[in-house]
Amino acid sequence: MNEANENDNNCDFCKKKFASKYNLNLHQKTAKFCLKIQADYFKEQKEKFVKHLNEEKEREREKEEEKEEKEKEKEEREKEEKEEKEREKEEREESYDEDDEEDEDDKDEDGFSNNVSILKNQVKYLLMLLNDERKKTRQMEQVISSLVNDIVTNALNDSNQLIRMSQNRAENNQGEEDDEDDEEYDEDEDEN
Ligand SMILES: [Zn+2]
Repeated sequence: MNEANENDNNCDFCKKKFASKYNLNLHQKTAKFCLKIQADYFKEQKEKFVKHLNEEKEREREKEEEKEEKEKEKEEREKEEKEEKEREKEEREESYDEDDEEDEDDKDEDGFSNNVSILKNQVKYLLMLLNDERKKTRQMEQVISSLVNDIVTNALNDSNQLIRMSQNRAENNQGEEDDEDDEEYDEDEDEN
């Protein structure tokens, strides 16, 4: 048995000095007040460790949440960009259709507006919006109001055209009766 110097025989827990290692060991295993100090010490160490673990876990969880949040934002952004592109494509196709048909089909030979294809495109757009839960209410309102506006405008144009046609017909009939000799001259003028 090596007899160590005084310092080696101090109790780390209660700071009491002992004459030998043996006495120190015996003390640490039996002295109730020191065992209590030891128990408190180990309890404190355990709590510190558990706290550390929990903090570590919390940090890990926050990191994970942040990552998920970023992932979600990214997905959301990509989804919006995709939708935006699809909408732009849709609108380009619509306006192409409108331009394409405006020249020949906007008015029929009597001058009546003929916007069936435009209305068809708008209905198609409306159906597409029905699938788009997030924006359907706001955009549907716009499309419906534009649709109603178009229908009313067309109806007004058509009735104006009807009035003009019946006026022209009345004037022409009047002209034919009055100036049968100048018929050719009148026709040339009407065309211009
Ligand atoms: Zn002690």
